[in-house]
Amino acid sequence: MTYQNYSLAQLRQADAAHHLHPFTDHKDLRAAGSRIVSRADGPFVYDMDGNEILDGMAGLWCVNVGYGRDELAEAAFEQMRELPYYNSFFRCSTPTPVLLAKKLAEIAPDGLNQVFYGSSGSEANDTALRLVRHYWALEGRPEKNRVISRDWAYHGSTIAGTSLGGMAAMHHQLHGAVPNIVHVMPPYAYELAEAGESDEQFGLRAARALEEAILEAGPDTVAAFIGEPVMGAGGVKIPPASYWPEIQRICRKYDVLLMLDEVITGYGRTGAWFAAQSMGIEPDTITTAKALTSGYQPLSALLVGDRIATALVEKGGEFFHGYTYSGHPVACAVALKNLEIIEREGLIERVRDETGPYLGQALREKLGDHDLVGEVRGFGLLAAVEIVKDKKTKTRFDPVGRAAGLVRDHAIANGLMMRAVNDTMILSPPLIWTKETIDMACERIAKALDLARRDLQGA
Ligand SMILES: *Cc1c(COP(=O)(O)O)cnc(C)c1O
Repeated sequence: MTYQNYSLAQLRQADAAHHLHPFTDHKDLRAAGSRIVSRADGPFVYDMDGNEILDGMAGLWCVNVGYGRDELAEAAFEQMRELPYYNSFFRCSTPTPVLLAKKLAEIAPDGLNQVFYGSSGSEANDTALRLVRHYWALEGRPEKNRVISRDWAYHGSTIAGTSLGGMAAMHHQLHGAVPNIVHVMPPYAYELAEAGESDEQFGLRAARALEEAILEAGPDTVAAFIGEPVMGAGGVKIPPASYWPEIQRICRKYDVLLMLDEVITGYGRTGAWFAAQSMGIEPDTITTAKALTSGYQPLSALLVGDRIATALVEKGGEFFHGYTYSGHPVACAVALKNLEIIEREGLIERVRDETGPYLGQALREKLGDHDLVGEVRGFGLLAAVEIVKDKKTKTRFDPVGRAAGLVRDHAIANGLMMRAVNDTMILSPPLIWTKETIDMACERIAKALDLARRDLQGA
């Protein structure tokens, strides 16, 4: 690697001079300078300042098997030597996407047996949107093309992904969303449940916002509902148990397709291959990416249900859509090896039986009583800690995001990579974390909370 010939200062300077980063205020970044992470091993990443940081975010929700897996590097190397690239257009295929599709059909929920590949979650959601609209057109109902999503949803950052998503700041910069996409309330009980409303009641009310939107638009115009089983980038918003069964019932009643975005929850994070299985949801499509390769290669797979796939095959006609790198042989080789590692090491069972329950419990026991902590919630290896000024009234510090930003900065300085979404701290660690790693993370968060409380004195 030639980067060793450059000093940290030189790399930082070149980064500032030439590199525009995703989701970044470049004025801030250039003032602060970037953190340059140059290697990683197991659950830790190492930056060029010499810090060892426990990675509580698994990269960006993706490095499920942890860092430093030689097997994945070897799978890529062997495939690159044999066949670095060939396309799957024009009645061609290559072996690894075929074998991966077969494997995905085996582990997917019943009734999802076909796969459409891309290189990112955003691309896969673009495919999903086109596909559900194409499906209704094939059925002779092209006017059934509206998609209902939720505020706070994250479905990627392309124009289709942003339009499907419910991030107000992103929409503000969109200057024209994809038409016929509407948003309803998210199942975020901590902020949206009314006084005296039980979790169950709130879950039903949030789900019925979908029904109201369907009725308002007219069921004959609604193609699909899209949702993340647990909202990730929107702040690990975990729905009450009553929510998804009611969504499912409403979709069936009005013949609205159910599109599940499992880009974060797929491949073990919730203690099952897919959250659809851990939560009993029966979707028509499942968007997956991130942990499909544990982030070692860019790859997405849209899992397509039999209803849509059968229409594509039986009605025929070309579906005018695809990417140069759909079914990339190297990315698919890495995905196959990654799924083999997840299975061989029993990582899903570990999350389901041991670390998943323990993460929520440990965070609650060790942090729940802290002055700044309004709520702790977890589902599998996804967790959130709400930061508040007043626990009883759930009042936040002013301005929004300042308090959690401080907690995050102290956590990182104390060796734990965490993210803050407004005033919600979130965790999404690799599936290789043990109870001991969770304890280490809890200690570092506790310390960060104490330091943030000191900073906030008088705020
Ligand atoms: C990350 C993410 C996406 C977008 O994936 P990219 O690979 O960044 O395009 C879509 N949906 C969800 C739920 C995500 O978390």
